[in-house]
Amino acid sequence: MMSIKYTILKKTQEKDSKARCGILETKHGVIETPVFMPVGTQATIKGLLPQSIKELGFSILLCNAYHLFLRPGHNLIKEAGGLHNFMGWDKAILTDSGGFQVFSLGKINKVTDEGVTFQSYIDGSKHFIGPKESMDIQMALGSDIAMVFDQCSPYPSTRLETEKAAKRTHKWAKECQKYHNLDCQALFGIVQGGFFADLRQESAKYLTDLEFPGYAMGGLSVGEPKQLMYDMIDETITCLPDEKPRYLMGVGAPQSIIEGVARGIDMFDCVLPTRNGRNGCLFTSTGKISITNARYRDDLSPLDNDCGCYACQNFSRAYLRHLYMANEMLGPILGTIHNLYFMNKLVKDIKIAIEKNNFNIFKKRFYESYFS
Ligand SMILES: [Zn+2]
Repeated sequence: MMSIKYTILKKTQEKDSKARCGILETKHGVIETPVFMPVGTQATIKGLLPQSIKELGFSILLCNAYHLFLRPGHNLIKEAGGLHNFMGWDKAILTDSGGFQVFSLGKINKVTDEGVTFQSYIDGSKHFIGPKESMDIQMALGSDIAMVFDQCSPYPSTRLETEKAAKRTHKWAKECQKYHNLDCQALFGIVQGGFFADLRQESAKYLTDLEFPGYAMGGLSVGEPKQLMYDMIDETITCLPDEKPRYLMGVGAPQSIIEGVARGIDMFDCVLPTRNGRNGCLFTSTGKISITNARYRDDLSPLDNDCGCYACQNFSRAYLRHLYMANEMLGPILGTIHNLYFMNKLVKDIKIAIEKNNFNIFKKRFYESYFS
């Protein structure tokens, strides 16, 4: 069997919509798309047992190669039998390449065509990651899907800077493919090109020629207006092969997921639902609420009447608020459970709508309620 197998089950026949649903088969189970992948930066979804994550309906997580490389080290994880064993998660895992984190978190000492020398944000120690190192790390982790090492340009960047980063990303993508030799792991290419439509298209075409089993769009949702991100997806998507999975990296606001699916995206990840959950910023069918707000002090109704999650079924807004105000760890745990349940239900509802050729109506109704 190949590392992954992607099958499109249905494309919506509606006007102005490229929405589709499918299944992605991996060595660690089948994933229905569209899918939202929660982010377990340090090989854990903060506050949740792997069992709880499964019960919430998730069949794939994202873990950060960069963080796990710095601590506890990919060699230890390999010794432990790989990341699945190490973290007690037997479903699928996608690892990012470390590219984004090296450029955004590390104190960079030097960037060359060979890779990046940077200092650890933990203890200041000096490290080097290039395409080969990124592949070594991700193969040691043994994730189901690995990502090529890329250079993401910040927003805004000049055309010249963006072009340089995209060219480097292409060179690295080729090298990653050369070094990558783990049959049970799929390696995805990452389209860069910043906010220049022609550079994005060129990047998508270049990577398509390299025949990756899946394609990601990187360098989006980095501070640009939402519409600009949507435009870039529109410009790029037609240059990617239809039959391969498409992954929009680092994007996970409910509205962005709906807009991404409408444009033909299959996979999403974002720290937003879990981070917001820990901070008491909770998604509901009628929009986001900040549960620590004084108005919820005496509110004995559930957080969201339409939600079937453990938090909404068992507790009131007043109790949830109390937990956050008293700095009790159960608050962030319940907030995370609720937000992840919300995200999973959102993509499941989207899937049902696509199956029924009902996506545009779903979208309209969701917005009417969410922005009410
Ligand atoms: Zn809930």
